[in-house]
Amino acid sequence: MEPVGKLAGPGHRLPPAAAGTAERARWWHHVGDGRLQCDVCPHQCQLADGEAGKCFVRVRQGERIVLTTYGLASGFCLDPIEKKPLYHFHPGTAVLSLGTAGCNLSCRPCRTWDEAVAKRVHRMAEEASPRAIAAAAHQWQATSVAFTYNDPAIYPEYAIDIARACHVQDVRTVAVTSGFMMPAVRRELFGVMDAANIDLKGFDEEFYQSFIGGSLRPVLDTLIYVRHRTSTWLEITNLLVPGHNDAPDRLRAMCTWIHDELGPDVPLHFSAYRPDPRMPETGLAASGLAGVPPTPPEALLRAVDIAREVGLRYVYSGGAGTPATGTTYCHGCGAALIEREGHTVQRYRITSQGRCPECRAVLPGAFDDRPGDFGARRIPIRLGN
Ligand code: SF4
Repeated sequence: MEPVGKLAGPGHRLPPAAAGTAERARWWHHVGDGRLQCDVCPHQCQLADGEAGKCFVRVRQGERIVLTTYGLASGFCLDPIEKKPLYHFHPGTAVLSLGTAGCNLSCRPCRTWDEAVAKRVHRMAEEASPRAIAAAAHQWQATSVAFTYNDPAIYPEYAIDIARACHVQDVRTVAVTSGFMMPAVRRELFGVMDAANIDLKGFDEEFYQSFIGGSLRPVLDTLIYVRHRTSTWLEITNLLVPGHNDAPDRLRAMCTWIHDELGPDVPLHFSAYRPDPRMPETGLAASGLAGVPPTPPEALLRAVDIAREVGLRYVYSGGAGTPATGTTYCHGCGAALIEREGHTVQRYRITSQGRCPECRAVLPGAFDDRPGDFGARRIPIRLGN
């Protein structure tokens, strides 16, 4: 069992914005010594009264655990779906992105994970009911809502209620997640998600434990579950951090696992690490990232080559500096089917049945007759505007 987070302890009170918004949480049970165990993610925090879990936002109050961020979201923004990234899910359409506060991992390259930011997001959060979010997506003609700025794995009660409200409005739902969750949560969360981008951060248990603050096996289990047991459309992202998870043999092992366990049709996106200019040198040193340079384009291209060599059909790296790594090619005849520039669809050649017009091979994913025309915009919105 994992120790609880640094905010835990009787002396720590809920952030002010959470007052009155906490909802009784699901997925916990009593353990014999009087503590309550949260069963949402593999950390399985065991909480005394008043303690918060590692994620900051699931807190024991008396004889129950509550989700302090239920109904509190932040960062509402209209984005292109390509930015999640999802390249095979209604290309060119708009997605309403949102997040809450907290995280159950402590990825060293993360730009948002630290106690201060977690608290600040609490203060910035707006009250947002599931129905209000679904109505906003409908009003702004977003075809999907994405749970993206932090991981819906730590607020599944809220994410599931929002997803159900969205489906009433004919709005689709997207989970952008680390996949670090327990089986019961996995079942319910992906039962209401139309698409997911799961972050496979590396392919090494030691890397996950020392660099991510989690473990690899539950993430692999989530990938297998989503691919084989749900109708959720799945894509994968891997952030390449120079010198930490970009060794060619590990990349080859990861891509081979994806090919063998998930199949050749799951799109894989390689993305580039960029040092956070807001992080002081001391912070970089503490996180083990001092002197780590940005991921060079050639490292991205090498990763793309490895993935294609092992047989993955849809491999992308928008930041590699070559349009070819943002283009979707037909696996049957090699024709360019979707050409992109950044997050914008420039050329779209797919039949109304989702086939290649040259050889009629089916392109896996969810496609419309025409791509959306949202473009590369990023439009912050407030609910009710
Ligand atoms: S969701 Fe939060 S409280 Fe629950 S086990 Fe994970 S880190 Fe701990």
